[in-house]
This record gives sequence, C-alpha cells and structure tokens, in this order.
Amino acid sequence: MTRHQDAPRGALDVPALVARARAAAGPDGRAAVGSIADWETFPFERDGLRLRPLDDPTVPEPAREDEDAATCSRCAAPDDRYVWTDATWRLSARGPVSLPTLILGPRAHVDLGDLDDELAGELGRMVVRVERALAAVPGVGRVHVHRWGDGNGHLHLFFFARPDGMTQLRGLVMPLWAHHLPAIPDDEWDAIVASVVASLDASAPSV
Ligand SMILES: [Zn+2]
Repeated sequence: MTRHQDAPRGALDVPALVARARAAAGPDGRAAVGSIADWETFPFERDGLRLRPLDDPTVPEPAREDEDAATCSRCAAPDDRYVWTDATWRLSARGPVSLPTLILGPRAHVDLGDLDDELAGELGRMVVRVERALAAVPGVGRVHVHRWGDGNGHLHLFFFARPDGMTQLRGLVMPLWAHHLPAIPDDEWDAIVASVVASLDASAPSV
C-alpha cells in the first residue's frame, strides 16, 4: 500500500496517555497492581507489591549509549570480543549469565529501521540460525528473541534460553527471573557457547 500524502496520520497522544493513567491511579499517584501479579509465571507475590508513580515524559529523550557511530563502543570492539563473526554479523556471549544469553548485531552501525532490504533479509536468516543453534543445546526448552533498543543505538538482538521444564519462566517474565538466579558455572557456559558456535559454523550458507 502506498502512503498517500493526504492520508490521515495516526499519532500517540502521550500527554493524554499520562493524564489518563494518573486519573486512573489512586490518591497516592500509584496504579493498582494488575492481574499480571496473579500469573503463575510472575516472579513476585502480590502481597507487598506497589507500583511506582509515573514520571513525567522526558522529551526529547536523552541519547542512548553508542548513538554516534564515531564514538560507538560496539563499532570499535575487535572481533575477539565476540564468539562468532562473519562478514556482516557478530555474536557475543559474555558471562557471567544466569541463563544462556547471546547478543547478535551487525558490524555496520545501524539500528533496526535503518536496515536495507538485503540486510533485513539477512537478519531474518541470522535470527533463525542463532535460534536453532541455541535451541539445539541439551537442557534448552525454548529460545526467546528480544529487541528492545532503548539502551544502545547500535542494533542488537538478545537470545535467551529458557531451561527445559522450567515453565515458571515462560514468556515475558523470564528477563525478570534472570536477575534473581545465580550464574551458570563458567565451564558449563563456555561449553554451551562452543556448541552454539559449532552449530552456527555447520549452518553457514554455501557460497
Ligand atoms: Zn556502532
């Protein structure tokens, strides 16, 4: 569909959103804890929980880290900081981690919306390759893929492995659980990373 110049432009009315939320909040400015606290996967018990009052929006937003290619730490990082690289992509696996965590990014200083069609297509294939490589590790029940983009201006995607059978960690709450679990022993993590790298090498497209 071609976007027409006269087409109505949708917009998110942020001041109205904040005003609505504050009007719905209690007299102390805090919204009631929602039904998510009753999910069996939610890491915290409802008793004693309370929400923070909403801050005023900060506009314009403060710059993210590595917003500028000239000073970007990801662009400057040498390949030996990564566990796997090719001509376009680099995968990091820094420990210690409480759950297997991989970070995929392009060599080029781009964010998600900057990708041209070729790089976008490659990203799709890379996401599938990394997912398969991590999912193939014994003990991994599911691989979660995240792109938030709020902290750093150089595109990076997270791959988190949910341990097999740990269904209490299903879905969006797993990153919260990860903050409350002890680190995987270094030798176990190193061996997992080696397995992932071997799978990625084995899945390289023929040229
Ligand atoms: Zn960069």
